[in-house]
Amino acid sequence: MFTPSQAGFRRLLPLLRPHLRQLSWGVLCMLIYVGSFPLLIRLAGQLFPALGSGDLNRVLGLIGLALVIFAVQKLAQFGQDSLLAGPALQVSQRLRSDLFRRLQTVELGALEKLSAGDLTYRLTEDADRVSEVLYKTIHDTLPSLLQLLAVLGVMLWLDWKLTTAILLLAPVIVWLISLFGARVMVATERSQKKVSELAGLLGEAIEGLPLVRAFAAESWLQDRFEGEIDQHRQARHLTYSLVALQHPVVGSIEVAGLFAVLAMGAARIQSGDLDINGLSSYLTGLVVLIDPIAHVTNNFNEFQQGQASLKRLRQIEQEPQEPPDPVNAVPIGCLQGDLKLEQVSFGYDPSQPVLRSVDLSVQAGEVLALVGPSGAGKSTLFSLLLRFNTVQQGRILLDGHDLSRLRAQDLRRQVALVPQRTTVFSGSVAEAIRFGRPASDEDVEQAARLANADDFIRALPHGYATQLEERGSNVSGGQLQRIAIARAVLGNPSLLLLDEATSALDAEAEAAVQLGLKQAMAGRTVLVIAHRLATVQEADQIVVLEQGRVVDRGTHDALMQRGGRYRDLCERQFIRDLQNS
Ligand code: ADP
Repeated sequence: MFTPSQAGFRRLLPLLRPHLRQLSWGVLCMLIYVGSFPLLIRLAGQLFPALGSGDLNRVLGLIGLALVIFAVQKLAQFGQDSLLAGPALQVSQRLRSDLFRRLQTVELGALEKLSAGDLTYRLTEDADRVSEVLYKTIHDTLPSLLQLLAVLGVMLWLDWKLTTAILLLAPVIVWLISLFGARVMVATERSQKKVSELAGLLGEAIEGLPLVRAFAAESWLQDRFEGEIDQHRQARHLTYSLVALQHPVVGSIEVAGLFAVLAMGAARIQSGDLDINGLSSYLTGLVVLIDPIAHVTNNFNEFQQGQASLKRLRQIEQEPQEPPDPVNAVPIGCLQGDLKLEQVSFGYDPSQPVLRSVDLSVQAGEVLALVGPSGAGKSTLFSLLLRFNTVQQGRILLDGHDLSRLRAQDLRRQVALVPQRTTVFSGSVAEAIRFGRPASDEDVEQAARLANADDFIRALPHGYATQLEERGSNVSGGQLQRIAIARAVLGNPSLLLLDEATSALDAEAEAAVQLGLKQAMAGRTVLVIAHRLATVQEADQIVVLEQGRVVDRGTHDALMQRGGRYRDLCERQFIRDLQNS
């Protein structure tokens, strides 16, 4: 009955290996706990007739003995539950951490297609459910199954004919349970998918609430949200209905079985095959059986639900990963920043190239401005330089080292990005600049000075220790950009990739950011996706990209004189700056 779905949980077993010691102690407690049931059943077999005969001393003696056994049993149960909880929780923690590590290396293209809300749900709710099921399986299902076996063993010993008759009923119950189990799993999977979709929509909605308000689209969003929650409710309802149906059906079969046993027991007594002591023990055994059967049934449902969660977690593992580092990677230290692209071609879909035979040569310390219409391939070029994507033809050389021969982390220490839209994690300003790198406070302050950010940071309520709120909402846009510049120059990269911000800042903020950039760019090779006239005017060379090809190159003055595509583009793209100049 566990067959198709069990494999998922079985794959978690190796994760339990480091906890074998604790598990062994837990299992020992479990054996003591389970082992006490046959003793209690035997005692019950003597207690009921003693009660009937009114022998008080014997009754008190038996009760005393039962109390001792109970005490040991409950102590063992406590040991079992507390010792087994740890490993189960550790396994789920490990699962979560492994999946998160895996998520960090998912190919960026694939990552962009994943929904943040959905992933959040998987790594929180689904992972919790898996942990719960694992815990229940170890500390509840397993002892319940053992209890079933032990009690059935005693019952077989007491009256094997009667017990065999009962056991014939068992396959019917098992069949019914598994029939429901499979349906519960499918229904649960559907309902969890709905919650994930809901989380995805919520993520999008919360991000976009101001926009929704600006377009007065509240009722549209509300309708969409209500549609989603309605589908979620229906999916949940189906799961609940199945579980609701399962309880009475299985329960009725159990009760019918109990009555059948009573009738058969009476017949066995009448025929003299069983005495009253035996029947008392036997009936106690039956009562003791009900509890583990209920536990196994319930846990089986939860097991199926956990299975659906585990499946959803495992799907993260199937996302394509970043290509591994080359086996004999070339170690690099500090580089000069000589950059060369030789006949570089690349397409997200290889049959549709986005960059075609691009040749570039930038000397260390030079500034190269990339211009071109939207979709020309400028950002894609950046993604190749950071090795987010791999060149399909040609090669990129940094100080003569082929990028594909370097370790990704080494390369990314040399190449720093200042993105168009700054994102920061919540935490202190110093942490935002440091971004996980082992840099001293002086290094952080030095980077901030270069980025023209030191003054404003010191003026913040707690200076470098000031906490940035989510997305840096408690500092201004210009200040956030300067933090991003400081973050980029902290490791002293030789190549700076700068995607100029398009959103206009006020003149004063703009001047502060420009000063930061100018200082940060000094002495480095810079590739800039230019959106300002001043940038192209000051660049050592300008490359015009169109549909992935270099269609023109030169300095601003030379290109303007030559007329053609650059001049057209300049006039359209930098229209505001041209008017002001
Ligand atoms: P630019 O930065 O010049 O505006 P991009 O490099 O962003 O241009 O895009 C170049 C082309 O590649 C566009 O046609 C765009 O649709 C496509 N593209 C960009 N990113 C991806 C991606 N992750 N997957 C598939 N196609 C992409």
